[in-house]
Amino acid sequence: MVYDGTGRSPMRADIGIVGDRVAAIGLLEAAGAVDVVDAVGLSIAPGFIDSHTHSDMACFLGAEHDDVIQAAVRQGVTTEVCGNCGFSPFPCPPGRGAELEHHLATLFATPTIGWTDLAGYSAALHQRGLTANLAPLVGHGSLRAAVLGFADRPADQDELRAMTRLLDEALEQGALGLSSGLVYMPGAAAGTEELVALARSVGQHHRVYTSHIRGETDMVAESVAEAIRLGRHAAVPVHISHHKVCGRQNWGRTEETLELVNSSRHAGMDVSLDMYPYTAASTLLYAMLPNWAQAGGIDSMVGRLRDRQARERIRREFEDGPPEWQNIPRAAGWDRIVISNCPGRTETEGRSVVELATEAGIGPAEYVFDLLVEQRAQVMMIVHMMDEADVRRVLAYEGTLIGSDGIPLPGKPHPRWAGTFARVLGQYSRELGLLDLSTAIRKMTSMTAERFGLADRGALAPGAYADLVAFDHAAIIDTATFESPLTPPIGIRHVFVNGRQVVKNGEMTGARPGRVMRAA
Ligand SMILES: [Zn+2]
Repeated sequence: MVYDGTGRSPMRADIGIVGDRVAAIGLLEAAGAVDVVDAVGLSIAPGFIDSHTHSDMACFLGAEHDDVIQAAVRQGVTTEVCGNCGFSPFPCPPGRGAELEHHLATLFATPTIGWTDLAGYSAALHQRGLTANLAPLVGHGSLRAAVLGFADRPADQDELRAMTRLLDEALEQGALGLSSGLVYMPGAAAGTEELVALARSVGQHHRVYTSHIRGETDMVAESVAEAIRLGRHAAVPVHISHHKVCGRQNWGRTEETLELVNSSRHAGMDVSLDMYPYTAASTLLYAMLPNWAQAGGIDSMVGRLRDRQARERIRREFEDGPPEWQNIPRAAGWDRIVISNCPGRTETEGRSVVELATEAGIGPAEYVFDLLVEQRAQVMMIVHMMDEADVRRVLAYEGTLIGSDGIPLPGKPHPRWAGTFARVLGQYSRELGLLDLSTAIRKMTSMTAERFGLADRGALAPGAYADLVAFDHAAIIDTATFESPLTPPIGIRHVFVNGRQVVKNGEMTGARPGRVMRAA
C-alpha cells in the first residue's frame, strides 16, 4: 500500500526506481528490473523527514558509536533538518574557531571545526559519508559566537552588519533558514531588534525562521507570542521548535499557546510547529543556569561556579528567581532531572541528580555545580516535566510537524532520537487513533519538505527522489526507552535514500548515499 505523503488515501501499487529518482508508480508487472524488493503486505511512504535534530556532527563520531549514528535511519528517517536551536557548525570565519568550538562543545561532543562556511562543512560531510540526507539551518548562536563571542549584550550596528553578511552567505550556499535558541547563551543575549534584523534577511531569501523560544515554563505564552510578533515585523515564516509546556503549574497551557498560533494563522501569517511525542525534555545541563551565570563562555561560567558567592546567588534564584527566566529545577524538581551524557563520568549516566547528590552527601544544586566544574560543562540532561495531554494536543494540531529533537550522543540519550517516528505511527496513530495513518505520514513527509523548501522530497510521484520507507503497519512500534535508548523500532523493513537501499530486512546495508540538502 503506497502512501504518497500528501495525506491522500493509500493505493496498491508498484514503485519503479531508476538512479536516484522514482520513475513510475502503478501496476508495473510488465516492467523489467535489475532488483526487485517484495513489499507485499507492507506500507510504503516517502522517507521520513525529521524536522528537528541535532545530528549536525553525528557522522564524525567514531565507528564504535554506529548504534548512535544509525538510530534515525533505522526508524525510516531519510532526511534530518539540523542546525537547530541556534547551534550550527558554521559559519566559522578565520580566527573564530575557538569561540565556535566553545559554543558547540557540549551538544556536539567536543567538535573540531575544519572549515569556514557551509560549503566547507558540506564538503567535509560528503567526504566522511552520510547514510541519510542532512539539511542544515544556520544557528543564530553560532553567528553570534563568530562575531561577538559570548558577550552578554545586544550586538552593535557593526556587529549586526557582520552577522547579516555571514547569514546571507550561508543562505546563498543553501541553508534552509535561521534557527535561534533564546534560552542558550550567547543567543539569549540578543534583543528583539537584532533578531528582527536577521530574520528580515531570511524572509528576503524566502526561507524560514525557527525558534527555540525564550521560555517553555511559566513564560511560555509570552515566548510564543514573541516569536509570532517577530515573524510579523520581519515578514518571515515562523516555525516554533519542539513545542511543549513545562512544569506541573503550566500543564494544560497548550490550549493557550495553540490558540495564539491558530489565530495568527487565521490572520494570514505563516506559522508552524514541530514536536516529539514524549513527556521528557533533554538539553545541556548548564542550560538550567541563569543567563548571567552562563555569560562569557564555558571558561567564565566554570570560573563563576567555583565562586562561593555566585553559587549562593544561583541557588537562591533556583528557589525564588525572577519569573522571566526558565527555571528548570523549580519547574521539574531535582528528582526529575537525570544525567544523560557525561563522557568524563559515564557512571552518572541514567541517574537522577537527587540520587547522585544523596550518594555524595551534598545538596542537588551543589552536586550540579561541582559536576559542571569538574567536567568543564560537558554534561547533558533529561528532564521529566511535561504532561501527556499537552503532548497529544500539540501532536493532533493541524500546524504541527514531527521532529525528534534527537541528540545523537553516547551514554543514555533521550530515546526520541531512535523512537519518535515509530512511536507516532504505532502508539499515537494505530493504537490511540489520534491521527489517521495518512495524516501522520504527511506530518513527517510532505508538510516538512514544504515548510523547509526541500524540492522533490516528501511526496511520492514520478520524478521525486527515491527516498522511501517500507514498514509493517500492524507491527510498527518504538522500543527505545530511557534505560535502553537506542533500541531500533519494530516493523521498519526497508529504507531507501536517493535510490539506494540503506536498510534491508531491518538491517543496515552499509551504503552511504546521503547528501547535504540545499533549500530550493
Ligand atoms: Zn531546542
